[in-house]
Amino acid sequence: MASIQRRSLPRMSHDIAAEYRRTGLAEHATAMGELAQGDPLRAVTASYRRHERIFDAALAESGAKLDCRAGCAWCCHYKVDVRADEALAIVEHVRTRLDAATRERVIDAARRNAATIRALTPAQHMTTNLACCFLVEGACSIYPARPFACRNHHSTDVEMCRAEYESPGRTDLPDSSVPLLKARCGGHREGRQSAVLHSGLDVRAYDLTTAFLDVLDNASASRRLRQGKRALIEAIVVD
Ligand code: SF4
Repeated sequence: MASIQRRSLPRMSHDIAAEYRRTGLAEHATAMGELAQGDPLRAVTASYRRHERIFDAALAESGAKLDCRAGCAWCCHYKVDVRADEALAIVEHVRTRLDAATRERVIDAARRNAATIRALTPAQHMTTNLACCFLVEGACSIYPARPFACRNHHSTDVEMCRAEYESPGRTDLPDSSVPLLKARCGGHREGRQSAVLHSGLDVRAYDLTTAFLDVLDNASASRRLRQGKRALIEAIVVD
């Protein structure tokens, strides 16, 4: 699974693996029912709200303390992947929730970033720090609509985030995530993607920046997604 994280998933203990499966199966069943209603944008938004409850409950249950804080944005310089329905949610947020100046700023940043990304190989992109186009004054301007990759990323040690930022591609850094949180939130994302796939909808992973611009510039993206076609034509497919 491609995601915001540069390191691979750690080997999970039996109980943690069971948490991943259990959460994934529950989300698969719920998401299948929602997707059957024919509104992928509404369905992904509902899945985000469930994910937020799962994240908060797993964090409380684990007793862990995260170092993630407003204004800390080391991880907002990594490569991020989205699904087509997530890109639709981002564009809706940008169109309806951002003021005109911020909207113009993120669109300009997206067009600059897209030109940079299209000149990189996938391997170069994975190891290149590039400030996310939605990062405004150190904060995520689309926070309520941020994709699952961003939602799942977290850290108990900001120094590991800084080290990873300063040495992109380094693979020997300790994993600073919370196992229970990672298992449940990772399972939720996997269960939802499985539901999208089994509903006959586009489940390709796209590069965040070019996916955002594709939906923004092409009015057909939403219709194509609902019709079970490849939804995004110009965005970079990453797997
Ligand atoms: S979408 Fe938001 S949270 Fe995700 S990388 Fe961009 S600024 Fe950071």
